[in-house]
Amino acid sequence: MTEVIDAPAAVRSIHHWIGGRPYEGASGRSGTVFNPARGLQTGAVDFASVEEVDAAVQSAKAAFPSWRALSLSRRAELFFRIHRLFDDHRADLARLLTAEHGKVLSDAMGEVARGLEVIEFCCGIPTLLKGSFSEQASGGIDVYSIRQPLGVVAGITPFNFPAMVPMWMWAPALACGNTFVLKPSEKDPSASMLTAELLAEAGVPEGVFNVVHGDKVAVDALLEHPDVAAVSFVGSTPIARYVYETATKHGKRCQALGGAKNHMIVLPDADVDMAADAAVSAAYGSAGERCMAVSMLVAVGGVADELVEAIKERIPKVRVADGLEPDAEMGPLITREHRDRVASYVENAPGEGARVVVDGRESCPDEGFFLGPSLLDDVKPEMAAYRDEIFGPVLGVTRVDTYEEAIRLVNESPYGNGTAIFTRDGGVARQFQFDVQAGMVGVNVPIPVPVAYYSFGGWKQSLFGDRHIYGPEGIDFYTRTKVVTSRWPDPATSKVDLGFPQTR
Ligand code: NAD
Repeated sequence: MTEVIDAPAAVRSIHHWIGGRPYEGASGRSGTVFNPARGLQTGAVDFASVEEVDAAVQSAKAAFPSWRALSLSRRAELFFRIHRLFDDHRADLARLLTAEHGKVLSDAMGEVARGLEVIEFCCGIPTLLKGSFSEQASGGIDVYSIRQPLGVVAGITPFNFPAMVPMWMWAPALACGNTFVLKPSEKDPSASMLTAELLAEAGVPEGVFNVVHGDKVAVDALLEHPDVAAVSFVGSTPIARYVYETATKHGKRCQALGGAKNHMIVLPDADVDMAADAAVSAAYGSAGERCMAVSMLVAVGGVADELVEAIKERIPKVRVADGLEPDAEMGPLITREHRDRVASYVENAPGEGARVVVDGRESCPDEGFFLGPSLLDDVKPEMAAYRDEIFGPVLGVTRVDTYEEAIRLVNESPYGNGTAIFTRDGGVARQFQFDVQAGMVGVNVPIPVPVAYYSFGGWKQSLFGDRHIYGPEGIDFYTRTKVVTSRWPDPATSKVDLGFPQTR
C-alpha cells in the first residue's frame, strides 16, 4: 500500500495507475515530490507522455460499457463498500497529505472527512439518478426523461486538497456510470495512488478509475483527446480559463474552478473576539493554502483597531510546526518557491503603503518551507497584496466607513468564490446575502464550504462553466438527459399522418 516515507533518504518512485494496476511511466520525464516540513525530496513522480495518457483513456473507454450497465443497486452497494474502506483508511490518507502537502494532521483528517461526505452522498445514487415521468402527456402517450452517463471523463486537480478535490470529481462521476482519468497535482500525487488502491480493493473493476501524473503535456493530452467527454478542473484562475477554453473548443463539457480572494466583512456590532478567532482560523489554517481561506478582512467603522489588536494577540499562539507533531496548528507551504513568493508580499507591503503588524518571516522553523502568519493593515484595493491571490498565511485588513463601501469592495473583486459577514444584525446579514456577488456566503461562518448535498462553486473568475461541483449540480454535470416519448397503440388505429405531431 502507498505509505508515508519516514526516512526521506529513500526517494520513492510514484507511477501512474492504468487498467487496475500501477503503470510505470516510460516518458523519461518526472517531477520532484518534497516533504515540505523538512525541505527534502521524498518522491519522484512519473510524468505522462501523450501515448501514456491515451493508454489511460483507452482503458477507461474499454471499461465504460459494462460499468454503465451495472445496476443501480449494485453500484450503490459498491459505494457503501468504498465508503467503508476510505473510512477505515482515513488516517493513512491523512498522513500522506501531511507528508507531501504539509498541512497538519488534524487538518488533513478534516480534508478526508469532508471528502468522505461526498462519497456518502453518492451512496444514494439510485435516488439521485431518478428521472421524471408524465403519464398521458398526449392521448395514449407517455413522456419520460432518463439520465445517462457521458463516457470517459477526466479530472485535473490542484495541490492544496490532494484527496478531497479528486473525491469531489471521481465519486459522482463513477456513481453516475462514467469511467474516470485523474490527473492530480504533481506536487503531492501519492493520495491519488492510495485512492486507486482502495477503489480496486473495494471491487471497482479495472479501467474504471485511472491516474496519470504529469504537467501540461498530460493536461493538454486530456483536453484534446477525442474520447474524453468532459473535464472537471480545480486550480488557479489562469489555468482554469485555459482549461475551459481548450476543453470546450474540443467539444467537451467543462467545469473549471479557479482561484479566489475571499473577503470577510466585520461590522461594528460584531463580537470582536468571535470575529478575531474566525479570522485567525480561516486565514492561517492550512497555511492559507485554501481557495476558501479568508485573505482580506474588511473592517467597517470603529471596529478596526480593536479587531487588529485581537488578531495580533492571537497570532503568536498559533503553533507553526511539522504537521506530524501532535500540537501543530499550521504547517509549511508547498514549495520553497511558493514560500518565497508569499513572503515577498510581506516584504513589499510597506513600499505600497500598508503596515506590517505581524511579520511571519520572523517566527518560523528554520528547515522546510515554513512562513509564519503575517498580518498587514491599511491594505488598499490598488495594492498587490489586495489584488493578488497570495495563497499563503498573509491576512490583509482594509478599513472602510460603511457597509455600502464594504459590499462594493467584495462585488468589485474579479473573484467570487467565498465571502462572509460577521454581525449580530439579522437584517443586514440578509441584505448581504441578497446583495453579494459570490457563490458561497457565510453568515458568522468564515469558511462556508457547502455540505455534500449542496454544490460547491464560485462566481466570476472563480468558475468557468455553468455547473458547480459535487452535490446535485455534480450529478447534472456527469449525466445527460434523454427524453423518451412512448405509446403502445392498438395497431388497428394506425394511419399515415404527415402533419407535425401535436399534443392533444
Ligand atoms: P494550478 O492551476 O497551478 O494547478 C492545477 C492543475 O493544473 C495541476 O494539476 C497542474 O498540474 C495543472 N497545470 C498547472 N499549470 C498548467 C498549465 N500551464 N497547463 C495545463 N495544466 C497546468 O493550481 P495549484 O497551484 O495546484 O492550486 C492552487 C490554486 O487552486 C489556487 O489558485 C486556488 O485558489 C485554486 N483552488 C481553487 C479551488 C476552488 O474550488 N475554486 C479549490 C482548490 C484550489
